[in-house]
Amino acid sequence: MTKKVTLRSGLLLLVCIIAVAGAGCRAGGSNTNAYETHDFAMGTSITQRIYGGNAQQAAREVIDEIKRIEDEMTINKPGGEINKLNNSAGKAEIELSEETIYVLEKAKHFSSLSGGAFDVTIGPLVKAWDILGDNPRVPGDEELESLLRLVDYRDIDINREAGTASLKRPGQIADLGGIAKGYAGDRTVEIYKKHGIKSAFVNLGGNVVALGRKPDGSLWKIGIQDPRSSTGDYVCVIEIEDKAVVTSGDYQRFFEKDGKRYHHIIDPKTGYPANSGLISTTIVSDLSIDADALSTATFVMGLEKGLELIESLEGVDAVFITDDKKVYATENIKKVLTFSGENRGYEYVEER
Ligand code: AMP
Ligand code: MG
Repeated sequence: MTKKVTLRSGLLLLVCIIAVAGAGCRAGGSNTNAYETHDFAMGTSITQRIYGGNAQQAAREVIDEIKRIEDEMTINKPGGEINKLNNSAGKAEIELSEETIYVLEKAKHFSSLSGGAFDVTIGPLVKAWDILGDNPRVPGDEELESLLRLVDYRDIDINREAGTASLKRPGQIADLGGIAKGYAGDRTVEIYKKHGIKSAFVNLGGNVVALGRKPDGSLWKIGIQDPRSSTGDYVCVIEIEDKAVVTSGDYQRFFEKDGKRYHHIIDPKTGYPANSGLISTTIVSDLSIDADALSTATFVMGLEKGLELIESLEGVDAVFITDDKKVYATENIKKVLTFSGENRGYEYVEER
């Protein structure tokens, strides 16, 4: 029997949030004075749109910084701090930079806050599925079972004062894939500010950060993509300033085998791609690192638990889309949300 495996991890699908300047869903419109760049790093397409200041230099610095962060935090190629930690699993405590300790602490915090739906030690499963790699495959149940035993965020020990961290057991692998792009988004805004920029927008493959307002004083309009559209249509638009907007979805990276879709967000309870009934989770918050961890976490948790978690957090909001095409939003975001998905069969559930 021939099995067809297709991997869709290209640029197209990763632009899951689109800045809508005026009409349409293009990152275009009234950007006459904008400096706009398109690059590729962290396995995704990166769009920057910067108004004023030293835009060109800032944009270049941002890409260098994102690549540096990728080198330190990826498990997809050798070198870097996280690989150093993983290679010492079960053996030694490792000295790490303040930056890596910060991201690891955030990752552990959100692992705990989500009751392990987000789990920073998901690495062995991510490697086994290889959904982002060249040889994606469906691991057998026995293999998954034995790998699942290695997944437990409580086994990461972090000592901030000493600047060290360790993984308790051999074979354990920390994976920052669900949070590092968010961190890079926060660093991007810091670089913009350092250059005196007051108005800018960056999209790191679905991790959007908007600095300030648009130069004409209006709010940024961020389109939330229809998870089942391949042409970038969106189901709603939210208007924001000085916020991070991060989406996780089953359409961003996946492969298909025997007509079944296997996406990149793994449920640490089952070892399989999460099947919570949510197909897209968008988190709005001040820090992009928080939004990134929470979008992955809530995707695994599902609608009820996800909404409960987000509503318990100050200054954090969410838009969730279910597999039966219903759109839910938390109270604060309802005020700035315009729904437009009815033509594609979506329903906006304003009152639950
Ligand atoms: P995101 O696209 O931000 O939702 O993150 C997905 C990425 O995070 C995957 O490509 C994995 O590297 C990693 N990941 C997958 N499942 C989990 C999980 N349950 N908890 C933490 N990280 C995960
Ligand atoms: Mg994430």
